[in-house]
Amino acid sequence: CGPTVYNYPHIGNMRAYVFADTLGRVLSFKGYRLTHVINITDVGHLTDDADAGEDKLEKAAAKEARSIWDIARHYTQAYWADVKALNIRQPAHWSIATDYVPQMIEFAQSIAADHCYELDSGLYFDTSTVADYGRLARADTQEGEGRIEAVEGKRHAADFAIWRKTPPGEKRQMEWDSPWGKGAPGWHLECSVMSRALLGLPFDIHTGGIDHREIHHPNEIAQNQAIAHTHGLDCAENSGARLWMHNNFLIDRSGKMSKSSGEFLRLQLLIDKGFHPLAYRMMCLQAHYRSELEFSWENLAAALTRLKRMVMAVDRLVDSCHGSSPSQQAWHQNVLGLVDVFDKSISDDLNSPLALTAFEDLLTLKKVSPHHKVEAIYKLDEVLGFGLQGLMRSDLRIRPKSATITEAEIEAALDRRQDARAGKDFATSDAIRDELAGQGVEVMDGDPLRWEWKLDVA
Ligand code: AMP
Ligand code: ZN
Repeated sequence: CGPTVYNYPHIGNMRAYVFADTLGRVLSFKGYRLTHVINITDVGHLTDDADAGEDKLEKAAAKEARSIWDIARHYTQAYWADVKALNIRQPAHWSIATDYVPQMIEFAQSIAADHCYELDSGLYFDTSTVADYGRLARADTQEGEGRIEAVEGKRHAADFAIWRKTPPGEKRQMEWDSPWGKGAPGWHLECSVMSRALLGLPFDIHTGGIDHREIHHPNEIAQNQAIAHTHGLDCAENSGARLWMHNNFLIDRSGKMSKSSGEFLRLQLLIDKGFHPLAYRMMCLQAHYRSELEFSWENLAAALTRLKRMVMAVDRLVDSCHGSSPSQQAWHQNVLGLVDVFDKSISDDLNSPLALTAFEDLLTLKKVSPHHKVEAIYKLDEVLGFGLQGLMRSDLRIRPKSATITEAEIEAALDRRQDARAGKDFATSDAIRDELAGQGVEVMDGDPLRWEWKLDVA
């Protein structure tokens, strides 16, 4: 399940794609051939997952006084920029919901007689017509789970719209003719239709954030059961996918992940504050995908430091390869041992925190050929997705947007300070240091990472 493109994704949303990307990378590493599909929801997702509220895109378009198509294009591109910045690999297909409306109507038509009923507001899926509805959520979805009987006439609280009719007298920007009148598809229908069209049901793995486990995915499963004429979920394949995997949430206690807040936690904000986007990827990998992850600037700074250390260790390793020819022998036993620990960890329900430790142990492993180490590091980095082969130390120092001083000016001041110190003129040296501090530059004498200076990102 991909994004609903009515606004910029927040970094919590991006955790879902880092997770799916890591899973894909692990599958490739293990020798599987991967066909990854990410769908883009540009119609049908309501402001409330349980069928209440307005279409998110219609609402955004009205607010920004732009066409829906404009809104969808703009935010899809913003999402793709984040995908690229986080080294998320391109899927085999990006499926755009509005490209599949005829197939959605066809799908709805073929399950309508046995599984749906029509109300004035649309065509609804009767969840009592499939066995085990809501089993994925492990909850009694009829009873509560925050559901409100938002639509008059629904037979069961959990029933959901698969086609939403345009109310009489209204005109929606996005509407299509259908056997149930002009209207738009329901959000859940899109995912069943696109996955069926591109992958075929059942396919292997369906991913999404943990919130989808409660409503969206149980509804997809119900539709998949209906189209396949399967009844109970005694066999996992009957749900449409053999495995359903959900990432837990990124939590932000400051409330800045709400898209309505002023300083909204999107990837660009992190970059504006001087953090390399891959520091966020590191932050995600440091936690297990099924655990909640709490966002804080301190955690992000720690993740950036860890990434810097890796980049520098790889730099040193590459340096030490110069002047010696690659060994023709098989990788040293200790290298193989750590690769094995990495493999076992990442293969155990994606234990990325443990895999990261094995990766770092490999970087600091003593008394083995640096060539073997570099080869192994690059191979495992394909799984972690940092792109260490092309990531330079200098890439990791990003000028915060608020910085008024240029790198050249900082370097020049540091040269003057170096001269002063060489001449034992400590008063001048201290004055230059204070002057830089006044411009938000912290001089870091004796920094073990040899970073020398950093821009204050507060
Ligand atoms: P949406 O664009 O709202 O459909 O959400 C895109 C993806 O982000 C979905 O898979 C959601 O489950 C997931 N998601 C939403 N909020 C968070 C969060 N705070 N942390 C992690 N994943 C999230
Ligand atoms: Zn979906």
